[in-house]
Amino acid sequence: MSYGVNVKFPYELKKKPWEQTIKPFNRWHPDVPMAGRVKPGEVFSVQICDWTGGQIGNNDSANDVRDVELEQVHYLAGPFYVEGAEPGDLLVVDIADIGMMPGPEGQYGFTGVFAKENGGGFLVDHYPDAKKIIWDYEGIYCKTRHIDNVRFAGLTHPGLIGTLPSAELLAAWTKRETELFDGNPERVPPLCALPTAEKALPGEATGAVAERIMADGARTVPGREHGGNCDIKNLSRGSRVYFPVFVKGAGLGLGDFHFSQGDGEVSFCGAVETAAWADLKVDIIKGGVKKYGVINPIFKPGPVEPRYSEYLVFEGISVDEFEGKVHYMDATVAYRRAVLNCIEYLKKFGYTGEQAYLLLSCCPCEGRVSGIVDIPHAVCTLALPTEIFDFDIRPNGDGPTKADRGAQSNCT
Ligand code: ZN
Repeated sequence: MSYGVNVKFPYELKKKPWEQTIKPFNRWHPDVPMAGRVKPGEVFSVQICDWTGGQIGNNDSANDVRDVELEQVHYLAGPFYVEGAEPGDLLVVDIADIGMMPGPEGQYGFTGVFAKENGGGFLVDHYPDAKKIIWDYEGIYCKTRHIDNVRFAGLTHPGLIGTLPSAELLAAWTKRETELFDGNPERVPPLCALPTAEKALPGEATGAVAERIMADGARTVPGREHGGNCDIKNLSRGSRVYFPVFVKGAGLGLGDFHFSQGDGEVSFCGAVETAAWADLKVDIIKGGVKKYGVINPIFKPGPVEPRYSEYLVFEGISVDEFEGKVHYMDATVAYRRAVLNCIEYLKKFGYTGEQAYLLLSCCPCEGRVSGIVDIPHAVCTLALPTEIFDFDIRPNGDGPTKADRGAQSNCT
């Protein structure tokens, strides 16, 4: 399998997404034509570009991150028709293996901070400008010329994988997200991304069907009941995911591969974003949705993960950093404080705040909701693996070793 001779669904990185033999799609809609058929038990290999379709270059300017067209995303492989799958079944997907594409276009990854006007990120009030770092692969490891003294092994996974929605489910998504958007339509960044025909790719559809998909198809930004853009780093090699099926044939689609990602993917363009291939195997549990009471996908992590055993863990509580106000049991505020606390710590060693923010977004750090009952504060933690640094970052009596640690790319 892999990128050798048996790739069933290939992607050529030298060509644009719309020039591919099997065209990617970037909207969720029940009428997106199936890109191919697979049988339960069959292993098949899929290739796909990075989530932006190659908009971000291997260079030292963040201009392309600043100017990225988010209407284009995410470029997805599929949808794949699974023989025998019907609404109400569970689609079982084994992620048998994942790897990087050959050649210079496939051997780098990028991590970015989006500008406030273009989506922002988890810490948008602190870091409102576009930034970028480039990662080079060394087999299972990655390192970057934009952050010194750091190297780690990837827990590689598709950030986005899911099944096609039914017409009813799509209508429910559009209704609830429109209601949310209408609550504050002028907000920057917006509360959510509503359907837009701009840059929509309907896969192989043409004519009226294509127009319908482009006008009404759900954007791929959030994770939903079908899976989608959940950005769960543990959907890696050897994992098994159970998806609810909403249309005949299931319509499995995937993309947005991450060489590595930290829990929360906090900077939004936040993993080591990459083109990749995946070997998949599918199976079906008839009537599994009702049998197991499944609303959202469930999964079993794989047995192959980087073995980091030492962590420095940063706590955060739900008291904001602006006015010192308590936000009752708000895990979002608590996690933000944990991330900010870790960034402040790393700055003492000479990293810029932007480098630390980008690193926490894409290195294999673990986020937890540690306490959610001790009124009035939620407590969240961020665990940073100390072994990804080639020097000791643990606190000691001599204080932190401050040095020049390079810099992220800025806009030019
Ligand atoms: Zn991604």
